[in-house]
Amino acid sequence: MEPTIDNNAAPAKIRVRFAPSPTGFLHIGGARTALFNWMYARSQGGTFILRIEDTDAERSKQEYLEEIMRAMTWLNLSWDEFYKQSERFDIYRKYADQLLAEGKARKEGEAIVLDTEKCWNNLSHKEIKIFDLIRGEIVFDQSFLYRRSEDHKSILMKPDNSGPLLREEVLIKGDGTPSYSFACVIDDHLMEISHVIRGEDHISNTPKQYLIYKALGWKEPKFAHLPLIMDEEGGRMSKRTGATAVSDYQKEGFLPEGIVNYLMLLGWSPGNNQEKVSLDAAVKKFSIKKVNKAGAAFSIEKLTWLNAQYIKEMPVGKLTDLLLPFLKEKGYGENADRKWLEEVVKLYQPRMTILLDFMDWADYLFEPNIKAADEDRAKYLTSDKKEGFRLLAEGLASTSSFDHKATEDVFRGVVAKLGIPAGDLVHPVRIALTGKTVGPGLFETMTVLGKDKTVRRLQQAFS
Ligand code: GLU
Repeated sequence: MEPTIDNNAAPAKIRVRFAPSPTGFLHIGGARTALFNWMYARSQGGTFILRIEDTDAERSKQEYLEEIMRAMTWLNLSWDEFYKQSERFDIYRKYADQLLAEGKARKEGEAIVLDTEKCWNNLSHKEIKIFDLIRGEIVFDQSFLYRRSEDHKSILMKPDNSGPLLREEVLIKGDGTPSYSFACVIDDHLMEISHVIRGEDHISNTPKQYLIYKALGWKEPKFAHLPLIMDEEGGRMSKRTGATAVSDYQKEGFLPEGIVNYLMLLGWSPGNNQEKVSLDAAVKKFSIKKVNKAGAAFSIEKLTWLNAQYIKEMPVGKLTDLLLPFLKEKGYGENADRKWLEEVVKLYQPRMTILLDFMDWADYLFEPNIKAADEDRAKYLTSDKKEGFRLLAEGLASTSSFDHKATEDVFRGVVAKLGIPAGDLVHPVRIALTGKTVGPGLFETMTVLGKDKTVRRLQQAFS
């Protein structure tokens, strides 16, 4: 007989959630999980839920909650529904009481624990099969429940030696708060989550969550466990291995477009070796089944390279707007002329990789005085340059216009008069004007610095 296909069945609703615990800032790994959930929802016309798992009152902080929401908003990862587990304790309690009444859980002091042995025995099959969209079927036998000795080397046996001792699963802790797995299962069910997309570190939680689903008589969702993000040395990415909070990247002047583009490459590829891809384009191509199983290595160089691409293509007005808060923080450019500022930004835009580059490179335009490092002064501002500086200051002071051409004409006139190659004076002058050995063209630099400051810095270069 042919299998019948029900063409009239309503297509399954795609509902996914990002479920951070507000016990720290949103870090790169969490943002990647949020992004993959978001891309999956958006690519399927589904719903993206933000669920705050703040059951641990001691470790959960309002400031972290706000920061997570702020970082997600900054990354453009908008959510459709919002829940906080701390407002749902009654619900978890109700289901714990139900399991108690059904004899599937028992009280231990003030806590309520799942009778895992009974729940396991109630399963009609002797293994747990989880469907994972990235890894295919994952099969667990009963041993995931075995209690192990502290060093994990041996399995603890029941007092009567009749078999291994099984772990107990806490549902409600002694203080009345639900365990992570219990609240997670109840919410995933009640919120009709179709796919649980989360980090690979949660694979080991999945079979015990499965037991809870079955104890409650519920069908489990589908799963997709994302590969771990490794640091550049191949270790697990951690706070110790560098700045991992999204807000740290924001403070350095990474753009949300650059970060999001980079994060999507941590485990997924749009194909054709393409690396730069916008969120809109990625959503059109995204497939959770194409996510890699293997760990994804974090590369700050690639992130920086991508970020630079987004800076380069940005309209100068927008880039200037983004730089304003950085300038303001330093007390720079409060009264700066907008046209001039855009001129300056345009000058540095092609070489910027992060917004802070601009602050490092353009400080000389905002500081009243600038002093190069002693070693650079000793190397470049030698006394044989004094005459060139004097002539240059004199010539520049008397030009009526102070544009690229005028400054270049004066400069060429001076080196011709002294009979020296232009290169002899370029570096020393740049050092005197900017305090730096590298920068954009010298005449553009003079033009944006302006006549007064240029002349004064040349005059005072040797004092
Ligand atoms: N609150 C858990 C975490 O932050 C969520 C895990 C899950 O997605 O199930 O890791």
